[in-house]
Amino acid sequence: MKVWVCATCGNHSATDAACLICADERQWVPRTGQRWTTLAELAGEGHGPDVRPLEPGLTGIGTTPAFAIGQRSVLVQTVSGNLLWDPSGYIDPAAVDAARSLGGVRYVTASHPHFYGSMGMWQREFDATVLVPEADASWLTALGVVTSFTPWSSRLEVLPGVTLVQCGGHFPGSAVVHCASAASGAGALLSGDTIMVTPGEDRATFSWSVPNLLPMSAAPVRGVWEAVRSLPFDRVYGGWWNRVLYSDAKGIVERSVERYLEHLRGEAAPPSALCQRFASLSHYCGHDSRNNNHRGPSLRTFFRKLLTVGGAAAAAGGLVLSTTAPALADTTDVYVQKAYLGKSGCNVYLTAVEGHNYASLMYNNVHAGVTCYAQLERSTNHGKTWSRVSGYDAIGSRAGTTTLAKTYSYYAGGGDEVRGCLTVKGGTSCTTAVALSGGSGVPAQEALSPSYLHEVAADGACQEAVVSTSATKSSTATGSAVFLNQSSGHTCVGWLERTKNNGKTWYVESGTHSAGSVSGATTYAITATYQDGSSYKVRACVRYSNTSAKHCTAGW
Ligand SMILES: [Zn+2]
Ligand SMILES: [Zn+2]
Repeated sequence: MKVWVCATCGNHSATDAACLICADERQWVPRTGQRWTTLAELAGEGHGPDVRPLEPGLTGIGTTPAFAIGQRSVLVQTVSGNLLWDPSGYIDPAAVDAARSLGGVRYVTASHPHFYGSMGMWQREFDATVLVPEADASWLTALGVVTSFTPWSSRLEVLPGVTLVQCGGHFPGSAVVHCASAASGAGALLSGDTIMVTPGEDRATFSWSVPNLLPMSAAPVRGVWEAVRSLPFDRVYGGWWNRVLYSDAKGIVERSVERYLEHLRGEAAPPSALCQRFASLSHYCGHDSRNNNHRGPSLRTFFRKLLTVGGAAAAAGGLVLSTTAPALADTTDVYVQKAYLGKSGCNVYLTAVEGHNYASLMYNNVHAGVTCYAQLERSTNHGKTWSRVSGYDAIGSRAGTTTLAKTYSYYAGGGDEVRGCLTVKGGTSCTTAVALSGGSGVPAQEALSPSYLHEVAADGACQEAVVSTSATKSSTATGSAVFLNQSSGHTCVGWLERTKNNGKTWYVESGTHSAGSVSGATTYAITATYQDGSSYKVRACVRYSNTSAKHCTAGW
């Protein structure tokens, strides 16, 4: 078969009519017109293979001097056979011998049509199976150099631990290869330009057309991330020798996606170092107008109020506290505080869910040296007599730390009245009573553990905090995320993240939870509790429901 090689994109073609790859808006044709060459011509110009081991099981096979788009292919070697990825347009007997000495080629495939290169010749040399995403198969057929191929879509484990993953974006079938055992078992992606590693090898970007500098829009960028986010990987080999994210690649890709989307939305503030250095940038560096609702107490103020001895003002809302991992995961409730009492360093808060028939009691102690007792009481005769329905529980003082609260939830029929009572040093005080509504309730949750506040942050009206059931870090410490929404127009979505490498990489640990806006009320939500090793950290993150930019506390 006579094969023409496009001098611009390196693809092989059965005809020397216009190169259909280069005629597409994502590529380009030289001003002087389409130019074809041949493998013999290229060999005569001094091109040859450039074979370099990348790491055990992965060998790069490029061309020197580089040719056309200049990608370096990767031979993925396994005991069950090898996969050749993104073959260069240049192939010669030395390149074939090199591949043969490494175990040959059982499968050949590419990230997308720009990198089909010499795929047809590799197929013939090794009787290899050509794999092409169904969505892009018509490009390969039109080039006319591959005799047969196997279409695939979504995901395909080609060889044990070697999985093709369709990501879309640059082309509908744009793909990556996941190599599970690469990067010393942490996993690696071969990304071509599906995920484009940048020249500094410290971030990634996304492009609908690389040479014509046309951006990828938001939805396909999110689609690329969604396609790979469930895969473990610490390394990304881009399509060229010097385009590699050697470690923390997954964190880098995630952060790069967020940053890219911020730029698309026009919300990319300069990095904070620049903000500190140049006062003139301040209007870019503050919160933007979408977060313009700053009314009401901050979460820190709220927790501070919980700590205020005999505080005069009512705290702004209630709080559901967690027990052990992963209790109360996916709990999202609207609490409205109905009454408050402070006495001698002990405070009690009664909260009730509007439209529901249960109430919670929460109390804290900031007094050094005094133990408080609290209980939830119920009346079924409009307050003539009261009976204790919760435990009678002590909460000791912890000087210098935040002894937040202990809660009980009480489930009662509509019309029942409840109140919280506090006993300290022989005296007892109770909150005003709340009459519960009818409606669906939740079961009682008694004897919950005290919680401690650690990290607090806010992104406008969305505020987030990390609380835990222990005051200090330990191998059995737990972390929970709590969210507060004081916006009247947006829902805050929050979740808990953890890191195992001191913040280099963060993983989403919980589900996402919404704290909706409720006129006249303060909305709380809480995530799963995470059992945290002493060397790990957790953080709480939020975003507004109408954006995808996230904001997190510091790690604890
Ligand atoms: Zn071309
Ligand atoms: Zn491309």
